[in-house]
Amino acid sequence: AFGKDIVPQAPEDPMFGLMAAYRRDTAEMKIDLGIGAYRDNNGKPWILPVVKQADELLRKDPNLNHEYLPIAGLPDFTSASQKLVFGKDSPVVTEKRVVSFQTISGTGALHIGALFLSKFYNRSASEAPAIYMSNPTWANHNQVFGNVNIPTKQYPYFSRETCSLDFDGMINTIKSAPAGSIVLLHACAHNPTGVDPTQEQWKQIASVMKEHHLFPFFDTAYQGFASGSLAKDGWAINYFVEQGFELLVAQSYAKNFGLYGERAGCFHFVTSPASNAQDTVARVGSQLAILQRSEISNPPAYGARIASLVLNDPKLFAQWEEDLRTMSGRIIEMRKALRGKLEELKTPGTWHHITDQIGMFSFTGLDERQVGELREKYHVYMTKNGRISMAGLNTGNVEYFADAVDAVVR
Ligand code: PLP
Repeated sequence: AFGKDIVPQAPEDPMFGLMAAYRRDTAEMKIDLGIGAYRDNNGKPWILPVVKQADELLRKDPNLNHEYLPIAGLPDFTSASQKLVFGKDSPVVTEKRVVSFQTISGTGALHIGALFLSKFYNRSASEAPAIYMSNPTWANHNQVFGNVNIPTKQYPYFSRETCSLDFDGMINTIKSAPAGSIVLLHACAHNPTGVDPTQEQWKQIASVMKEHHLFPFFDTAYQGFASGSLAKDGWAINYFVEQGFELLVAQSYAKNFGLYGERAGCFHFVTSPASNAQDTVARVGSQLAILQRSEISNPPAYGARIASLVLNDPKLFAQWEEDLRTMSGRIIEMRKALRGKLEELKTPGTWHHITDQIGMFSFTGLDERQVGELREKYHVYMTKNGRISMAGLNTGNVEYFADAVDAVVR
């Protein structure tokens, strides 16, 4: 029943291939710049000190058990997540215009949002509304929305010439999207390019989207991890909220808490200020509960407990902000070091984009041939599109990497 004409072999995930090749490489000096997880200056996974503390507190709690969480998740976690994304005093929270569900990290939040849209969004339209996503985007976005049969379209995002935002391309395509289309936006630290719109550009995006009746879906996977400031990294979402949009948010705690494998995340539905807002939120919440039940029944408890403990305790929260500055600070230092070394070597081209870009990833502008040569000759592993994970660089290998880039660019 499952012959190869029915179930063809799927292509290998390029990232897994890359990781396997890196592991097989026996060279003494090799660098993994593919990884999407933070590494410390020794190239090791880093448990945030605040997570360690929260973990110890949890383990001492005599009331801890392994019962199911409610379908919508741990209430202290979802309410703290709302405050983190929208701010403590946000009208969204005080006017109860938001409903939130704990999810299987950011991917699960995107998925439940996609599923909800596929079932309930603009069903009466003659053509199913499409979701517009940046070109390029996190590869999984295409699959998550494609799986629930939401047509996917692209808006230009990255200019290869300037290694920065192709704002005109982006805004013009968004302008030409049919009314009712969904637009997926990375709240900060765009993956894979590391390029974010400026606040001025965000304002223009919001204005065009409002005028053309487009629906925003924010993916926030790096709040606090990008700039080190939670408020700064959350600015775009809150600007859209202030403009009165109805919108969705998929929030991940993988990167900013280092809780990758614990799958802690949250999905938020926000409705516009209106007299029936609470009624809308109640109806949407009731349907989300059914979707959640059929997909996962109940979300996983452990990561949410850790995050909740930290988010709801002022002392631990302050420690978390410190840890965020440690991670984002190290990454910013590596950007400076890499750019500085390339400029010192007078490597052909301009390298300011390395420090202009933000977050875990950088689009270097290296082409496929150069990426191939870096791997063959220098044991440096990165994706073919020239993306590097800044987390893979440290004071012990950044000069080696810059020398290697210099050699393949010349
Ligand atoms: N969205 C973006 C842009 C990401 O880069 C990631 C992780 O790499 C995610 C969402 C979701 O990650 P997770 O499901 O681990 O929270």
